[in-house]
Amino acid sequence: MPDLTPGDVLDCGHPPTPKGIGTGRAIYRGRSMCYACADEQQREDIKKADAFAAYVTPDHVALTTWSGGELAKITSYKVRDHIAPGGRPYRMQYVWATTPDGTRWHGRGTTAHDLIAMHREGSR
Ligand SMILES: [Zn+2]
Repeated sequence: MPDLTPGDVLDCGHPPTPKGIGTGRAIYRGRSMCYACADEQQREDIKKADAFAAYVTPDHVALTTWSGGELAKITSYKVRDHIAPGGRPYRMQYVWATTPDGTRWHGRGTTAHDLIAMHREGSR
């Protein structure tokens, strides 16, 4: 993929995000977007989804996109130590969160992964 120069316009109609992490652009659903548009698109998609993957902020207060856009507020966060068969210890994180539309979500995953899969409460 060719590198963009600062004057380029992305598919969303905006230039790349000038500061922050990475290249300043996100590729989401095959379109190049500035971070703000990619975050907004993901928030829209989550309203209709039964599951999404997100990052837990280091202080465990929010779920974000990879570029740091907030997707949901964490209402409860727990970590529990487990022992795998064979004796290897691992740590699971349990997350409950609420999106801006009031939907409640929960998810769990090992702390070895940055991404956590969240599921809509009440869905299967
Ligand atoms: Zn944009």
